[in-house]
Amino acid sequence: METGRFENSDAHVAGSNKSASSAAGTAAWETRAMAPGASRNMIGGAWVSCASTAGMSIDPASEKELGSYGLASPAEVDAAVGAARRAFEAEGWRAAPKALRLETLRAIIQRLEAKAEDLAQEISQEIGAPIDFARARQVAHGLDHLRIILAAAEAARDDVAPDPTTPEHRVRYEPMGVAALITPWNWPFNQIALKVGAALAAGCAMVLKPSELAPSSAALIAEEVRAGLAAAGAPAGVFNLVQGEAASGRALVAHPGVDAISFTGSTAAGREIAQIAARDFKRVTLELGGKSPNLLFADCDAPRAVRQGVAHCFRNAGQSCNAASRMLVERSIYDEVLALAAAEAEATTVGDPAAPGGHLGPQVSGAQFDRVQALIASGIEQGARLIAGGLGKPPGLPRGVYGEGIGYFSRPTVFADVAPSMRIFREEIFGPVLTITPFDSEDEAIALANDSAYGLAAYVQTGDPARADRLARALRAGMVQVNGESRAPGAPFGGVKASGVGREAGFWGVRAFQEIKAISGVAAR
Ligand code: NAD
Repeated sequence: METGRFENSDAHVAGSNKSASSAAGTAAWETRAMAPGASRNMIGGAWVSCASTAGMSIDPASEKELGSYGLASPAEVDAAVGAARRAFEAEGWRAAPKALRLETLRAIIQRLEAKAEDLAQEISQEIGAPIDFARARQVAHGLDHLRIILAAAEAARDDVAPDPTTPEHRVRYEPMGVAALITPWNWPFNQIALKVGAALAAGCAMVLKPSELAPSSAALIAEEVRAGLAAAGAPAGVFNLVQGEAASGRALVAHPGVDAISFTGSTAAGREIAQIAARDFKRVTLELGGKSPNLLFADCDAPRAVRQGVAHCFRNAGQSCNAASRMLVERSIYDEVLALAAAEAEATTVGDPAAPGGHLGPQVSGAQFDRVQALIASGIEQGARLIAGGLGKPPGLPRGVYGEGIGYFSRPTVFADVAPSMRIFREEIFGPVLTITPFDSEDEAIALANDSAYGLAAYVQTGDPARADRLARALRAGMVQVNGESRAPGAPFGGVKASGVGREAGFWGVRAFQEIKAISGVAAR
């Protein structure tokens, strides 16, 4: 039994700039074995070992190997799509009453609720999410999404006569068919919940290909979905799982038996998927990257706005698509905001994901750590003013054989005087790196905010409701949040421009898996 990944060090929590001393790292840690399903596919309700398991999962905090994961071949993808197709057509899921779909989803939710702690532990180890965050955000939000989808689907009418005097003219919402669901690692349960829950409620059969960086949590979820389908009496092939990397995803997207694709991940992969989907007119929902602006006007509550804004950028080690990563600040409060933001960053600690507390975990992988480092270096080279953090790992990490800090931990970093021409203003960093840029007028603020290839979220901080409304209309983003207000439960999630196509969550998430059929000449019966 291994205890305490950080046992060679008494410094378990590293501040961005200070010596480590918090209690957050005192938890002993046992490396959990990955779920056996990490190297297996689930096809038609049966777990089947992948023919190839070349991949290796790495614990991002300890850099220890966790085990291998499966790499589904085109033949294995074909088998999974075939099972979904059979369930949808021959086994009648296409015409299953809505009550059965919803009973199935309810059974799955109950099972996942009972596994919440296991899921949190798995996510914490796989992606390095601190355990309290994994429990309260990663897992709790995923379950919330499922409950909201269930309620939205219950309330939605799938056969509607817009004019009650002519019931023979109707609109029916019907399942699209077999859906390919491809998810990233950063919010692994959330992304799977949004897709599997909505596809099921809509009446689709599906094949899920989760991220190769989170295969084990996906396997835990898949087992509960399998059990829920069986308990409700739904065909087993309604849900299938294939493990693997981009190649398995490509095989799935290109498969002729797939009718709809729901992809969450990088903009580069989304662009490739959209092109493949276009060949056969497959329906596509793409939830891609972001570089979301956070506009602070002089009439806002600056200390509160900065506290929330920095936390929103750094949360999940900066690895959220909607991170408030570009702070734009009215000139008259610029110096005050810089001081507040630097202090917030200095007070942000990183540490062992197994330990309780509000610290940040590591980046998910060595590649992601290197990417964050390269972008911090580019900010320095291009003349941005570093006011907190910077290159390298935070002090206080346990040391490896060459004296290097162990774990893919970045320093919480803030750059001031960031110009729109700089890479750190334009590129999604996906690490705890905040950029701050001054503006002199509302028009300039809007221009800077919209000067991005992305358009996922935008955040506005102002004491003037009229200004807030003007900005909410002017900003090119899928979601605008004012003065720290959270999105409403079930609000549509998604972006414009390079942030993607379509919406997930709640009612809109279900409709994304349905076709619209106009019927004339016969009333519903
Ligand atoms: P990624 O694109 O590398 O991988 C995402 C998934 O797609 C993985 O399962 C991967 O194996 C698969 N994949 C990769 N290339 C593929 C291809 N060409 N064809 C088919 N499948 C392919 O992204 P990631 O690194 O896992 O996730 C981080 C990205 O996801 C960030 O850009 C982030 O902004 C984005 N994201 C967006 C949202 C949103 O809702 N907009 C939510 C979370 C994450």
